[in-house]
Amino acid sequence: MQTIIEPFRIKSVEPIYFNNEAERKLILEKAFYNPFLIHSNDVLIDLLTDSGTSAMSSNQWAGIMQGDESYAGSPSFFHFEKTIQDITGMPLVIPTHQGRASEKILFSILGGKGKYFVSNTLFDTTRANIEFSGAEGVDLVCEEGKHPTVAAAFKGNMDTEALKNFIAEKGAANIPLCIITVTNNSGGGQPVSMENIKAVKKICAENNIPLFIDACRFAENAYFIKLREAGYSDKSIPEIVQELFSYADGCTMSAKKDAFANIGGFLALRNEALAQQCRNLLIMTEGFPTYGGLAGRDLEAIAIGLEEVMDEHYLQYRIRSIEYLTNKLIAAGVPVMQPAGGHAVYLVADEFLPHIPIDQYPGQALVAELYVHGGIRSVEIGSLMFGKYDANGKLIPAALELVRLAVPRRVYTQSHIDYVAEVIIEVFNNRNKIQGLTIVEEAPALRHFTAKLKPVATDLHDEQLKKAEAALPVL
Ligand SMILES: *Cc1c(COP(=O)(O)O)cnc(C)c1O
Repeated sequence: MQTIIEPFRIKSVEPIYFNNEAERKLILEKAFYNPFLIHSNDVLIDLLTDSGTSAMSSNQWAGIMQGDESYAGSPSFFHFEKTIQDITGMPLVIPTHQGRASEKILFSILGGKGKYFVSNTLFDTTRANIEFSGAEGVDLVCEEGKHPTVAAAFKGNMDTEALKNFIAEKGAANIPLCIITVTNNSGGGQPVSMENIKAVKKICAENNIPLFIDACRFAENAYFIKLREAGYSDKSIPEIVQELFSYADGCTMSAKKDAFANIGGFLALRNEALAQQCRNLLIMTEGFPTYGGLAGRDLEAIAIGLEEVMDEHYLQYRIRSIEYLTNKLIAAGVPVMQPAGGHAVYLVADEFLPHIPIDQYPGQALVAELYVHGGIRSVEIGSLMFGKYDANGKLIPAALELVRLAVPRRVYTQSHIDYVAEVIIEVFNNRNKIQGLTIVEEAPALRHFTAKLKPVATDLHDEQLKKAEAALPVL
């Protein structure tokens, strides 16, 4: 087969920043071993997130110039609204400044103590907003989804038996929503099948529980359905997307993902009473309902991006580029989530670093080493992100210890990806030298964003640091 090439050429470029290993050691120490605290111009290849990091197209930039900045009733809003209505089939469209703003509004209205929100897997901001309301978030991913290195076509699926049992146990009246995340970001960017969405919808309908889609990567998920699910190979992406949304009563979306925008989000709904409650909160927290925390130019760029993302040449290249990196790592024996997900490569950190105990955060230790060795920024999705403490202050680990290398859309070329593979393989071949980390400071919610850490063996580390300092050029 011929090489699947980037379906674009490059009109405008920006430099990437080079530094050396000794410099990066000091930078990481100053950032308390937390990649979120590293300045981005100290990063060579930034795979921290695919959120808001996409390259916009020349069409989107043209849209930026055409954005109408009227406070109320801007034509850019109506373009945005019509595009989302066409894609989702949902009549009520509420713009927000990003996905979590949609979540905050939705769960402020539907959440509260004694309520349960069930999902295949809730994303971290979704879970945090649910818990902040006093409610509980419950992940019911299918069995295949719990085994990172076992390949299956739709590992993002919800466990429908577990869903039925959970509803029977807690009572449908205490479950305001069921939320399916497509693709399953925290579960490895794995897709959800149409069959599963249909089955979940049926169970929800029987129990009068509305079904919502966390739609951040709806187009990537639709492409996987086209590739892997019987009966969809001849359907167009917009057709698959329309069917997917047809089973849902509403959706939340971050336009920073599958809309190629640098900021933005929305809620789309079918229920007018709920939409009215959302708009009331929106006016207090985000803005008037025809801009919702966004500039007219953002609304325009999002509307254009939502159409572009459904292009099959783009999706083929997108899914293939993740698979390409995954396969290179598999060939070198690196423990990596299989099959490749839609937006990121996930290293299985506890298998990569079996000598580091879970309470020394092997995922975070691997993140630190990828930065020091190759200037690559990644993120831990494991016990630093999702760990809890028991009554004795002992860590309750997350289900999986992963390191995510999220690939920004249309930003890096194949040689960048080849470099990333080389760095990971070199780190893997020297993995015994990597040390665990311990937390010195943390916030009560979403601690991974701001936590400060240090290496467990501080003496050894100080020695290493002195060496690193000595190696720096004297200015
Ligand atoms: C990014 C993301 C969100 C939150 O969106 P923001 O725009 O970052 O607030 C919610 N759910 C999923 C699955 C996401 O990937």
